[in-house]
Amino acid sequence: MIKSDRLLARLDELARIGATPQGGVNRPALSPLDRAARSWLATAAQARGFALYTDALANLFIRRDGRGPDRPPVLIGSHLDSQPSGGRFDGALGTLAAFECLETLEDQGIATDHPVEVVAWTNEEGSRFEPGTMGSKAFAGKAQVEDWLAVMDGSGARFGDELAATLAALPQARPRPIGVPPHAYVELHIEQGQILEAERITIGVVTGVQGARWFNVVVDGEAAHAGTTPLSYRHDALAAAARLLAQLPPLMVADGTARLTCGRLVVEPGSTNVIPGRVVFTIDSRHPEPARLDAIEARIRAMAAAETTARMTVERTLDLAPCRFDPVIVAAIDQAAADLGLSRRHLPSGAFHDALHLAAICPAGMIFVPCRGGISHNEAESIVPDDAIAGTEVLLAVTRQLAGG
Ligand SMILES: [Zn+2]
Repeated sequence: MIKSDRLLARLDELARIGATPQGGVNRPALSPLDRAARSWLATAAQARGFALYTDALANLFIRRDGRGPDRPPVLIGSHLDSQPSGGRFDGALGTLAAFECLETLEDQGIATDHPVEVVAWTNEEGSRFEPGTMGSKAFAGKAQVEDWLAVMDGSGARFGDELAATLAALPQARPRPIGVPPHAYVELHIEQGQILEAERITIGVVTGVQGARWFNVVVDGEAAHAGTTPLSYRHDALAAAARLLAQLPPLMVADGTARLTCGRLVVEPGSTNVIPGRVVFTIDSRHPEPARLDAIEARIRAMAAAETTARMTVERTLDLAPCRFDPVIVAAIDQAAADLGLSRRHLPSGAFHDALHLAAICPAGMIFVPCRGGISHNEAESIVPDDAIAGTEVLLAVTRQLAGG
């Protein structure tokens, strides 16, 4: 059993670093507040005698040795940075729950075969420096720190400078090479969606992270006088765009799992009395199954080709393959929740997480717990303490199983 009072007190303490008046947090990646959160966690780790390591991306690792010092560690954790008007639990819960697991192993003198390490990934959110998930992406070998050194934030601060300052602020963390594959990676996170709360389920057993494809659609019609042009002479680009967009909700209904969104639409020339000659809009398409992403893309292209009053061209601007978490980890999370008598269901993650990148280099998985109203990336983000405790107990059980002994 974990010490739930200790976990909840730590969540309160961390929420004070960058606290906002509305009860949320603003802790931008690599900012002085992010450094303060890292120092605070490092101090707690050192008080327990755990070793601290860091790498070129300033990912922070807190290590408890196993019987086999040369074995790869079981890695558990999340992130400490937040959105500008972020909530208290996004990232914070997963990091502090992982630390609570490490302390529980220590409290109870439980020896493990593999070392267990808590990780706080650098810049998961991507709201200060783009893109997000930099720390885990570089750790997985999909990018290098050099790719981002010149990236600027909104005030002109360089990523490279802020990274150096963050590393310098934590001299007690020993540098080590980035990306040595762990034995396994498990992350606890709030769901950031409505499913678990609506179904009154405590534990989400995450099966993977859904894929995303983005499209830019250009509709070329013909601008003409709104008052004089009869219907049969019109090449109305917006009317054509509207016909395609109107078919997206029925597609979602038919599929059940697909998520299709038009978040941007530009009408030209944009004058009250001119029939639109050109419209440019976006479609964000998400699905956990690659075959369904293909089918939806084919459908969008077919709808565009079938339009007779205007010429539609569809360009794919982003293609992120879905990731399936390792069946062994998924089964371990499911079993741990069952053993603890917790309600559970399998579900894919709708949002991206650091675990997406880790899944490329080691068996990985995620545990979700409900958040109120599915609200996240919002100062009003909140959870039921018992759910946080339950999620941490599941994380502990899975960690013990994976670490062995
Ligand atoms: Zn997060």
